[in-house]
Amino acid sequence: MATKKKFVYFFGGGKAEGTGEMKDILGGKGAGLAEMTNAGVPVPPGFTISTEACVYFYKNNKKWPAGLKEEVEKNLKKLEKLLNLELGNPDKPLLVSVRSGAKFSMPGMMDTVLNLGLNDKTVMGLIKMTNNERFAYDSYRRFIQMFGNVVMGIPHEKFEHILAELKKSRGAEFDTDLNAEDLKELIARYKKMVKEEIGREFPQDVREQLDMAINAVFNSWMNPRAITYRKLNDIPDDLGTAVNIQAMVFGNMGNDSGTGVGFTRNPATGEKEFYGEYLLNAQGEDVVAGIRTPKPLSELQKEMPEVYEQLKNITARLEKHYRDVQDFEFTIQKGKLYMLQTRTGKRTVLAALKIAYDMVQEKLITKEEAIMRINPEYLDHLLHPMFDPKKKEEFPVVAKGLPASPGAAAGKIVLTADDAVKMKEKGERVVLVRQETTPDDIHGMHASQGILTATGGMTSHAAVVGRAMGKPCVVGCGAVQIDMKERTIKIKDKILKEGDFISIDGGTGEVMIGDVPTSPSEIIKVLTGKMDAKDSKIYQIFDTILKWADEIRKIGVRANSDTPTDAKMAFAFGAEGIGLARTEHMFFGEDRLPIMQKMIMASTKEEREKYLAQLMPMQKSDFIEFFKAMKGHPVTIRLLDPPLHEFLPKREELMVEITKLELQNGDPKVIEEKKKLLAKVTELHEFNPMLGLRGCRLGIMFPEISEMQIRAIIEAAVEVAKSGMKVLPEIMIPLTASLGEMKVTKKQVVEIAEAILKKENIKIDYKVGTMIEIPRAALLADKIAEEAEFFSFGTNDLTQTTFGFSRDDAGKIINYYVDKGILEKDPFQILDQEGVGQLIKLAIEKGRSTRKDLKVGICGEHGGEPSSVKFCHRVGMNYVSCSPYRVPIARLAAAQAAIEEKKMAKTLKAKKSSTKKVSKKKK
Ligand code: ADP
Ligand code: MG
Ligand code: MG
Repeated sequence: MATKKKFVYFFGGGKAEGTGEMKDILGGKGAGLAEMTNAGVPVPPGFTISTEACVYFYKNNKKWPAGLKEEVEKNLKKLEKLLNLELGNPDKPLLVSVRSGAKFSMPGMMDTVLNLGLNDKTVMGLIKMTNNERFAYDSYRRFIQMFGNVVMGIPHEKFEHILAELKKSRGAEFDTDLNAEDLKELIARYKKMVKEEIGREFPQDVREQLDMAINAVFNSWMNPRAITYRKLNDIPDDLGTAVNIQAMVFGNMGNDSGTGVGFTRNPATGEKEFYGEYLLNAQGEDVVAGIRTPKPLSELQKEMPEVYEQLKNITARLEKHYRDVQDFEFTIQKGKLYMLQTRTGKRTVLAALKIAYDMVQEKLITKEEAIMRINPEYLDHLLHPMFDPKKKEEFPVVAKGLPASPGAAAGKIVLTADDAVKMKEKGERVVLVRQETTPDDIHGMHASQGILTATGGMTSHAAVVGRAMGKPCVVGCGAVQIDMKERTIKIKDKILKEGDFISIDGGTGEVMIGDVPTSPSEIIKVLTGKMDAKDSKIYQIFDTILKWADEIRKIGVRANSDTPTDAKMAFAFGAEGIGLARTEHMFFGEDRLPIMQKMIMASTKEEREKYLAQLMPMQKSDFIEFFKAMKGHPVTIRLLDPPLHEFLPKREELMVEITKLELQNGDPKVIEEKKKLLAKVTELHEFNPMLGLRGCRLGIMFPEISEMQIRAIIEAAVEVAKSGMKVLPEIMIPLTASLGEMKVTKKQVVEIAEAILKKENIKIDYKVGTMIEIPRAALLADKIAEEAEFFSFGTNDLTQTTFGFSRDDAGKIINYYVDKGILEKDPFQILDQEGVGQLIKLAIEKGRSTRKDLKVGICGEHGGEPSSVKFCHRVGMNYVSCSPYRVPIARLAAAQAAIEEKKMAKTLKAKKSSTKKVSKKKK
């Protein structure tokens, strides 16, 4: 018979059944509690119901798995025995918390109930046991409030309203100003309201309370805010949450008690400082909820020096043990410290870089670990603008809050999360201003440039989530008064309406009225030579870590740049060449577009050539700049790709214009001109221009256009080479579908190039290759590689042609699909490894079967997206190419890919050798 599945794991009395490794089934919180218990850290005892029970619950119509009830019973008994207390026993009542906790931490997304086990009888017992009437009633009213909200679904505000009324009538400023009698009255009012809302009495049966709370935690896994959070953070929906049932310790027993949260290093800047906040005579979420403004941990050093030292030691040990920054919760009960949670601290990218760098210096982690700890996508935040220091002076600072998440944000004031989303959809920049944020606000936080709250500390919801999202955030800005009725905010004597501009600096906590202009980030300043690298600590760390990444990565990183300015930026960001220079962008300049249009309008080849001859020196001078900017690295230049009508005015607009001119009896000559233009536009009109006369088809039908471009490239290369600099031009043919196309175009390139090189009497190493962006080209890659010396996957078009999606129109469909789970991700953002990826793999294999040294890269948008970069590494590309600002992201992601591969090879080897041993033994 199979052994029965275990669903419950005990921790307490210095030992735990689980370990820190068991996050999958115990959740992060449960695993942390087990690990701390085993390490001898003071943790209130309890037990964890595994995530597997929750998964079962959802698969089986919200039923508990067989045996769970008995296991809960057994572990509850064990807990009661350990503490000599009993759930529901009026003489010695045990109180517990029922806490959610999934594998990946989802701060505040799911639900927790404290003080469970209280009823009208046990509260009397608690008074007797503690001799503290106020404390007992405070705990009971908190329990009714949390249980009523989380388990019975009564809105939080209903409780807050009753509490606020009572406080007002008693002249109390804070909750702590209410005495035992007041709290008794509060409980009576709460209970009355609960009965009115739900139609039943507040449950007095403590076992019923416990079962209801466990179910509520299971159910909270699927609440809308948890679902949104998982979507934003790529966490699968089928993991489920664990449930932790833990004996209560009380921070609300008086002024020798308290509760707090902290970090072992500063999560905003990464500075190595013990960092956190606490409140005396408080419980649970009071610190983060912003009910009273908490004190910094440094105060605790004065108020309770011994507890402070102990806390510092324990958390330092935890940091060393986990080899990463810890975010912890603690409670002090009558001068005794208890740890309630420890987890890896979320941090800004700035802090992530600094901490990773410092920990390598401290020899706590390796360079490889440091690299694995930084989310490449987030490097982007560091390149975002800051407020322009000079222009900022014109905007007086009207208030200052806590600098919770760095960065500059300016936008129109919105007061609700829903409004933030609506305004964002209209294309507005908004700043979300709230009393405090709750997990229900995350969609609005996501849509905002930044977040400003009136209450709450550095560890409040807004602060934690803001940092995780990389959104500038200022919290606890007491000077901001929000009036939801008038839809205004008041800052000192100034009244601002919704829609007025406000600016916040998440790095300093400053708040300014108006739309403060921004200036480039420090890193950008260094890279563009506007600041000395010596003066920027951030830059030095950024640069060092990326250099580590370069040592480790195997795949090259190039940039897509269309202008010489872009190319210089790309080089500064560490690009090792240009993977795509789109020549069409060079024709849009003011001085060039009219000539380009005349060239297109020309009715004979001779006339066309006349205008092409005018364009040629301009192209050539751009290419010279490109080659110089890349200092000898390869530069891939793509021949003209888009359909010609993109350079002409729109047909409908022309028609309207002509009609207007005719009605107003306009100049007949002008009308004549416009009509000619319209005739040409009509002639070039295509129903599916993306599938029409574009790419190599264009160059084949109008060879003189390609000829001009090829000449410009080779002549530019000659000029630069003659000046003594190395050049590596790579001429890339777009949208090839057949060997025939490849042959014709390559022949043209080679003939022109060879003629020029012969005439100039110089040797230049140039290459001719093609983009692979049509499935047929991938399928026949072996043939095409007979001619092509390199492949570059144009994954934008390849995704479009493989899916049959028009990338300019499919947005609506794709959003709907992703929403409904029909497609997992938008394939234009994240490479579709499963489908498009197969074509890529096939094309590389086939291509290299006929040309062993075929160089392969990617130049679609995906070339700078971390998961796609990793894919490119795995399929053996030589390089990825992405927009200049994404080059650092690609460098880091490429290093992570190499590290992941090494790890994988190691585990495979280990597995192999262990199976070998086993098979030997068998013999
Ligand atoms: P979250 O995951 O939202 O942080 P938690 O389960 O950690 O929720 O609990 C919410 C709050 O209640 C935290 O401040 C925590 O420290 C506190 N808390 C939880 N369990 C206990 C307990 N047994 N005794 C005292 N405080 C507790
Ligand atoms: Mg917690
Ligand atoms: Mg293309």
